[in-house]
Amino acid sequence: MQNLIDNQLVNAAGQLIANAHRVAVITHLSPDGDAMGSSLGMKHFLLSQGKEVEVVVPNDFPNFLSWLPGAKEDKVCDKDAEQALQILNNADLVIVTDFQEPKRCGEVLGDWLAQNTQSTTHRPVIMIDHHLYPSDMADVTISYPDCASASELVYRLIRQLKVNDATWQMNRELATCIYTGMMTDTGNFQYNSNHPDMYEIVAELMRAGVNKDDCYDKVFNQFHTGRLRLVGYCLYRKMRTFPKNHVALIALSAEELKQFNFQSGDAEGIVNMPMQIGKIYYSCFMREDTDKIKISFRSQGDRPVNTFAHDFFNGGGHKNAAGGEFYGSLQDAVKTFMEHYEEYCH
Ligand code: 5GP
Ligand code: MN
Repeated sequence: MQNLIDNQLVNAAGQLIANAHRVAVITHLSPDGDAMGSSLGMKHFLLSQGKEVEVVVPNDFPNFLSWLPGAKEDKVCDKDAEQALQILNNADLVIVTDFQEPKRCGEVLGDWLAQNTQSTTHRPVIMIDHHLYPSDMADVTISYPDCASASELVYRLIRQLKVNDATWQMNRELATCIYTGMMTDTGNFQYNSNHPDMYEIVAELMRAGVNKDDCYDKVFNQFHTGRLRLVGYCLYRKMRTFPKNHVALIALSAEELKQFNFQSGDAEGIVNMPMQIGKIYYSCFMREDTDKIKISFRSQGDRPVNTFAHDFFNGGGHKNAAGGEFYGSLQDAVKTFMEHYEEYCH
């Protein structure tokens, strides 16, 4: 396997880590498997290096990720913002994983990161990410948008850092976090997963003790009844298809979500399902949140959806997996989609 991360970046990150004693690791809002896997993977690595480490998430993570080694010790910013800021201010290094601009980790952490770049009490920041257009919030920016997951980048960084250290061994906790992030960001290796290196990494993670079947079971087979019935409802009652443009849309109101006892993480994966239909290559899933409409886009092949998310839904993301937010009613979000999907989906 060839090194992916530029050696200068590896050395710069290695220097910052070597000089640090207390490290804070931050990841993005509504943490998914890759956010949790990359941040916790980083934590286990830093612990193995004798560092003090705290992982701060902007808001709570779904239940199906709470089994990840170390997840229960994560600090949740929207439960205790003061504590989160204290951790950042006490840190001598901040590592951000799986996001590329301050606003993706919420207001409190995002403001801290934005102000930190100019601050006289500046803390060095390392970014490890795979989204397009990284902002300049970090001192060392490890950004590879072609890489399928931030967790894979964390793995690669560690491997490149430790290449000459025969005494260092990856432990099962670290390997499990990395594997889970790689698994979730590729839909269990269904998409963005055509690179042979990925399977060499998986083999190494398994040799370090990962039980991949167990990871799958813990992430994908632990839903409550309401979630499964919600999936049925979406597909039977709510999915609209526009075959001429290869498009599907599902939009759910807060009232509908309540009927299914909607919990954080219940929407996970629903946006992908319409693409199981032959010739449906674009899918959009909208749901009414407390103060906004949360929108997910997916597509297949050379059909970007991040531009649609960016231009009309205050968002962005990857070519085939993007998202955004709409500030208005669900009806208006649907109307906006209907008015413009033909420009972006064909
Ligand atoms: P999901 O649909 O799983 O919430 O998000 C898929 C991808 O879309 C994420 O990995 C992220 O890159 C992007 N994304 C989701 N929501 C937002 C958003 O509100 N703003 C931006 N810029 N990107 C988003
Ligand atoms: Mn990711």
